[in-house]
Amino acid sequence: MENSVRVLLIEDEEKMRELIKIAFRKENFILIEAVDGRQGLNLFKTNEADIVILDIMLPEIDGWTVCREIRRTSNIPIILLTARGEEFDKLFGFELGADDYLVKPFSPKELTARVKALLRRSEVKSSEAVTNLEFGDIVIDKLSREVTVNKQRINLTNKEYELLHFLASNPKIVFTREQLILKVWGYEQYSDPRTVDTHIKKLRDKLGDCSSYISTIWGVGYKFEVPK
Ligand code: CA
Repeated sequence: MENSVRVLLIEDEEKMRELIKIAFRKENFILIEAVDGRQGLNLFKTNEADIVILDIMLPEIDGWTVCREIRRTSNIPIILLTARGEEFDKLFGFELGADDYLVKPFSPKELTARVKALLRRSEVKSSEAVTNLEFGDIVIDKLSREVTVNKQRINLTNKEYELLHFLASNPKIVFTREQLILKVWGYEQYSDPRTVDTHIKKLRDKLGDCSSYISTIWGVGYKFEVPK
């Protein structure tokens, strides 16, 4: 955690945001603030955050939906915030992919401690993740960004690599073209979803014998198959 931790805080109560801001300033965390669910999702897509703190009761888009949307494309740690007396189903929260939750009012120290604990956990996960991705005859070297098929190196463009890497990092999950556009091309450069089709086609050509690892789910999108 040498670099400053970037926290995306999605919370409509100004007082709560102020409290968290003061606590995080002491820790030198960088705070990205959103005041409703829609802004939260937009800021999530356009900013690299390390962790998300997400209030459940939010204007525009509620916290449950925000949590589900984030989980469609990301494993970022998420802490849910809920007010005492608010109907809160923690099992539902964990099912949606939240990592932890806090009931308001909580002490800023408690929140800081939870953030640090989750970041430690995800650091361990991500240092484990800096190895090759291997599926059958495809090896993706995440450090050098080299891809080999049957031990032969193939040349991919940047976007082809990003697309393959994203799909292979989330095997067996179907992604729509729109989700892939968001993930690989980014929200800002929204382009025609058919761009995904042309890139998938080129990628399959280059994967040769392994082209079937990327399967088309008609009417939905694409997924990476784990070869038997
Ligand atoms: Ca709220």
